[in-house]
Amino acid sequence: MNRGSDVGGTGDRTVLISGGGIAGLTLGILLKENGWDPIVIERDPAMRTEGYMMDFFGTGWDVAERMGLVRDIREVHYPIDNLEYVDHNGNPHFPAVPIERVRRALDGKYAYLSRSDLERILFDRASAAGVPVRFGITIRSVQETDSGVQVTFSDGMSDTFHLLFGADGVHSRVRALLFGQESQFDRFLGYYVAGFHIPSHGYDIGRSLKIYEEPGRVLWCYPLDERCMDAMYIFRHDDIGRLPHEKRLAFVREQFTGAGWIAERVLQEVPSSELIYFDSMTQIVMSAWHKGRIALLGDACGCLTPLAGQGSHMAMAGAYVISRELERYGGDHRRAFPAYEGFLKPLVAKKQDDARRLARQIVPSSGLQMTTRYLLLRMIYSNLFIGRFLGVFGAKSVLSDYT
Ligand SMILES: Cc1cc2nc3c(=O)[nH]c(=O)nc-3n(C[C@H](O)[C@H](O)[C@H](O)COP(=O)(O)OP(=O)(O)OC[C@H]3O[C@@H](n4cnc5c(N)ncnc54)[C@H](O)[C@@H]3O)c2cc1C
Repeated sequence: MNRGSDVGGTGDRTVLISGGGIAGLTLGILLKENGWDPIVIERDPAMRTEGYMMDFFGTGWDVAERMGLVRDIREVHYPIDNLEYVDHNGNPHFPAVPIERVRRALDGKYAYLSRSDLERILFDRASAAGVPVRFGITIRSVQETDSGVQVTFSDGMSDTFHLLFGADGVHSRVRALLFGQESQFDRFLGYYVAGFHIPSHGYDIGRSLKIYEEPGRVLWCYPLDERCMDAMYIFRHDDIGRLPHEKRLAFVREQFTGAGWIAERVLQEVPSSELIYFDSMTQIVMSAWHKGRIALLGDACGCLTPLAGQGSHMAMAGAYVISRELERYGGDHRRAFPAYEGFLKPLVAKKQDDARRLARQIVPSSGLQMTTRYLLLRMIYSNLFIGRFLGVFGAKSVLSDYT
């Protein structure tokens, strides 16, 4: 992937972004708009078309609004009218919560998106802005010199860039090459998550996001359209290290043996080829997010885990703050990178603490806890308290006072 001497080498606006996910694409767009010359490389061979469902609001919405992406986000629709916590037989523990109530409490700034929806919106904007995204390429080695960062790619080509960003997710390659092995930074929270899309026929989830809980294990079902749903399983388990692909479904089935509602049945009926996502709930905690001309962003340096429900928001915030600080300091990374880290790292640390605490609520540990929780949830999802509840849970953008 040698871009030739006209743009490579010592050009002082050239930027390589490793990772074409939410953080990487957001950064590519913003840097291009500020006069940089970014290239994004992505390990996957093409844009993903499937992905787990996400709540999108707060900080993520704020960045999307600043980037003019809200219209595209509002065009994404899923048939989700209500939120329902259901019991063993699928009956609600308390009356369904209309999603419209949540949306109103957030001034209409709320959407369900799949990760691939957001990536597609960002990819389309990146393409329109002229940001090259090269699929099927990774970094093999990196060396920083006085004049730039020399990178060798998996296809054997090499090039030099002024700056390098690692936006390559929780198992970041840039982090491993330049900051140290993952084991130095990972904090396993004691949970696993598995998710896939399946035909919803026969499961009768209607137009509700349905949540079924038992001590130590939960299932979230999102309707995707009239025929299909997204099933997300979260469960407590000791660290098992990396589990090979072919063993994942059997492992999840084992964890949900005897589970109520449709939790066990869906796993029995899903074909093994369908398991699209499986990972441990592992946060990334680092003492520094940058080194010389190289900086990390998104999950690569501050993974919150799905338990926070705000990882995509903070990934976009990271990109926004990096581009803003580079602009503020006239492109001088020696001042911009510490400013980025100084502003965002404490905010990410706070959200990581919140996620650790929240984990015990999302995956209850006893029947008694569940009973009291439903009473509490019924109250906090009421018209009276929902605004205050969402205020605690990330409704306010971390960038609201950031200019
Ligand atoms: C099940 C689940 C539910 C979630 N729910 C929510 C939610 O409700 N709300 C929310 O805001 N967040 C949610 N999140 C978190 C959110 O998805 C992440 O925090 C967010 O995607 C982080 O963005 P990122 O760009 O840093 O990393 P990623 O989205 O992981 O993107 C990293 C990219 O880098 C690529 N890559 C990896 N390695 C390499 C390499 N060596 N070279 C080149 N490319 C590479 C990957 O293929 C990927 O495209 C959820 C996460 C999960 C797993």
